Amino acid sequence: MKKYFWSFLLVTGLLTFSSLTMNAAKYKALIITGQNNHNWKASNPVLKLLLDQTALFTTDIVITPAKGGDMNTFTPDFSKYNVVVLDYNGESWSDKTKSAFLTWVKGGGGVVVYHGADNSFPEWKEYNEMIGIGGWGNRNEKDGPYFYYKKNELIIDKTAGRGGSHAKRHDFEIKTRQMEHPIMKGVPVRWKHANDELYSQLRGPGKNMEILATAYADTTGGGTGRDEPMLMTISYGKGRIFHTALGHADEGGGPAMECVGFIVTFQRGAEWAASGKVTQKIPGDFPNAAGVSLRAEFKELTLEEDMEKIVQYDIPKSTKYFTDLQSRIRSSSAVGEDLLKYEKLMVKLLKNEDATTEAKKLMLRELSWMGSDYSVNVIKALVSNTELKDEANYALLRLQPAK
Ligand code: ZN
Repeated sequence: MKKYFWSFLLVTGLLTFSSLTMNAAKYKALIITGQNNHNWKASNPVLKLLLDQTALFTTDIVITPAKGGDMNTFTPDFSKYNVVVLDYNGESWSDKTKSAFLTWVKGGGGVVVYHGADNSFPEWKEYNEMIGIGGWGNRNEKDGPYFYYKKNELIIDKTAGRGGSHAKRHDFEIKTRQMEHPIMKGVPVRWKHANDELYSQLRGPGKNMEILATAYADTTGGGTGRDEPMLMTISYGKGRIFHTALGHADEGGGPAMECVGFIVTFQRGAEWAASGKVTQKIPGDFPNAAGVSLRAEFKELTLEEDMEKIVQYDIPKSTKYFTDLQSRIRSSSAVGEDLLKYEKLMVKLLKNEDATTEAKKLMLRELSWMGSDYSVNVIKALVSNTELKDEANYALLRLQPAK
């Protein structure tokens, strides 16, 4: 009896704990998929994983009937959600579902339009107002002008012609146009996106639309020679829409989805659509203009991995692991966390005979501002090392100011 009582307590304790953890996610997200000219079976688990990784969302997935099925059975309860992610390009929803969706968005719902979703519903006027611009599905001048940048100026071009095209998949540079927008704040001005279709010639009403980022569609690759919109926000009633043209899905997701630039803008865009603000930090592995940055199997860097890779750091190599360590240290120091954990790992690296000189220099520079007495003796021992003495002396000077 007694034993039973204790195990009962344990079970209820665990239940309370797990429901608390679940409640920690602030927002509810719904991914709509089930019909797409894209590999939706590969993309929707990735989208869910990316939302869940933020710890801000609990995410449901709803799969519509297959093509030719009874669309009247597709009646999600939008009111349960803060944000709906559209990974859908297929048959028309029922009038009832369309109207429920519109009412929900107008009332303040958040929407993320993901890649091929801007191909969907060419005939649905309100949907095209929500996505701002779209392509394919016989879209042309009747659907609205082209939007693009030319010489840093936004061009709204009413020329007749097809809506939607893309060159062969390739790595391309993205240019941030709205540095101060919550989704883009802290993102570099120029960054490299991995192996994607560069959506071009999108057209539509473009009402209440802000273009956050563009990509130049190089004519040598068969592109338009224009800076084409890649990331956009649109307001619709009280609703907020984030539209990303990025992230073409291959089997398992593929490089366009593994790109840290895609991942982070998607995660931040979803938070903004849900709430109007962004609390997520820009991670250390965000790409810059020098090259793409991928997360294999969508795993974030760990501190252990950072330290392991920093040991081998040399000048021409990527600094992403060090940058990630730095951003961990800076965010810990900002919230007043004890930095000794990092200091111990860095001192261990300084003592490691296999670590490169450049790696040790990075550690000494970082320790010069955040180190404590814990580091001092190890740094003193490095003063006799001709390659490290400048950095070691500098660190000591800052750690032990003259009395
Ligand atoms: Zn695609």
